[in-house]
Amino acid sequence: QLPLALMLSLLLGYLAWLVTASRMSFTWEINLGLAAREFELFCQPLLNARTQQCMGVEILLRWNNPRQGWISPDVFIPLAEEHHLIVPLTRYVLAETVRQIDYFPATPDFHIGINVAASHFRHGMLLQDLNRYWFSARPVQQLIVELTERDALRDVDYRLVRELRRKGAKMAIDDFGTGNSSLSWLEKLRPDVLKIDKSFTTAIGTDAVNSTVTDIIIALGQRLHIELVAEGVETEQQARYLRQHGVTLLQGYLYARPMPLRDFPKWLTERGS
Ligand code: C2E
Ligand code: CA
Ligand code: CA
Ligand code: CA
Repeated sequence: QLPLALMLSLLLGYLAWLVTASRMSFTWEINLGLAAREFELFCQPLLNARTQQCMGVEILLRWNNPRQGWISPDVFIPLAEEHHLIVPLTRYVLAETVRQIDYFPATPDFHIGINVAASHFRHGMLLQDLNRYWFSARPVQQLIVELTERDALRDVDYRLVRELRRKGAKMAIDDFGTGNSSLSWLEKLRPDVLKIDKSFTTAIGTDAVNSTVTDIIIALGQRLHIELVAEGVETEQQARYLRQHGVTLLQGYLYARPMPLRDFPKWLTERGS
């Protein structure tokens, strides 16, 4: 019979091997997927809350993995962040958006939102990537950088933020109200846009505590002159409430589900704006 200590150390060794193997295989899968272009871009329109005019889109990534089928970004994005693969993924999103940019109007007031992780701000990488992909393709005024509040906003390089804004790009804080950053980051980052998380939109008319939070976020945005976008709008009731309370842009299944970029021009003409 093996001594207990030896058995334990064998077991621990095996577990460590398992963890390393699964990490390596994820890194491998993502790199393989990027090379094989298994990732596809979708876009979801943002509408003016009063006129219903389409003011822009958000780019959303999809992974059609031939071995596992469609994988949700809610699954692979956090894993990619953990494995330091979020920068190459975002680079792919930028390159693909620019490759398909002609599906979108070229007017400076049509905005294109890209989800960017805070870690991409390090070492000026984001600026280099925008230089490489965006600046020669479209006016920088069309770009909105969506930075999620789940991220450590303290990792963000403010000089880079200021530089981007000086060039004319807009900064949005994504999923506002769900992160753990303190309100002082609002002062530091001075975003142009706050995106109210879907959980707060869903709470309207159903959940007293969270709809109070919605009201407070709206008041905060108005007081600081920050444009407000509500995401996850699914009902007319939510849309009416948000509009009446001063949210200027709405995004959600009520208007359009995320669609492949090539479907966007048809969607735009069919609704007449
Ligand atoms: P997000 O940035 O908050 O994006 C909005 C999510 O809400 C999208 O999910 C969208 O499909 C979904 N959504 C929009 N309207 C509605 C609605 O009316 N009802 C419901 N139930 N859902 C709605 P999706 O595309 O699955 O993306 C999930 C998250 O993954 C995104 O949340 C974002 O954090 C992340 N993600 C997606 N694409 C990218 C990307 O290219 N880069 C990075 N870094 N993150 C991404
Ligand atoms: Ca987003
Ligand atoms: Ca969001
Ligand atoms: Ca969200």
